Amino acid sequence: MASVAAPDLFPSRGMLEGDVAERVKRVLETMFRLEGCACASCEARLCNHETLACIPSGFADRPLCLPCLAAEVRRPQEGLRDELVAYVLSKECLTVGWRWANLREGEAADATPRCRWSVPGEGAGSARERSPASPGLAAAVREGPSSAEEWDAGDLACGDLLLELRFRLDAMAPGSVLRLTARDAGAREDLPAWCRLTGHSVLLAEHPAYWIRRKE
Ligand SMILES: [Zn+2]
Ligand SMILES: [Zn+2]
Repeated sequence: MASVAAPDLFPSRGMLEGDVAERVKRVLETMFRLEGCACASCEARLCNHETLACIPSGFADRPLCLPCLAAEVRRPQEGLRDELVAYVLSKECLTVGWRWANLREGEAADATPRCRWSVPGEGAGSARERSPASPGLAAAVREGPSSAEEWDAGDLACGDLLLELRFRLDAMAPGSVLRLTARDAGAREDLPAWCRLTGHSVLLAEHPAYWIRRKE
């Protein structure tokens, strides 16, 4: 593994601390492990931007190239890509992975890559659905069907949380609701973003509790 000068990866500061450092470490470990692997569906070789994109998509166990990921989540490829790039660049830990991928592909750390993750730098869909549920709706969701599945994910975070969540939702009936407890602070952003990417819906988010409706 080629070593990469730290200032290229961490432009904003000399050192990363605590929680962020731990997240960065996990992102990079996953990317090192997956580097050069084949798409689990079509067997094309994945670029490092693709292995990175598998982390917030919840597919680090079964990495997919962009076209296969889009097919898997039933989204148009370009919209999915733009949304993923916008999300990656909004998170410090994933941005470090993005910069590392650029460097490994012979680009400047902050360049727009020439692989299929090359996107116009603006207009990427980062519209955040922040509208809180109305009180009546929130209560209805909270009380929900008594048969709702529950899962306490404890402190699981980032890729591990999303991976396990994907397994659990896959095993549930279409349209059913999972009541999830996720204490990691990053869940506030990670869960709605992941649901947008994959077509599931967050019915209600009252951190650390989340009600997620499995897609049909
Ligand atoms: Zn593929
Ligand atoms: Zn790439």
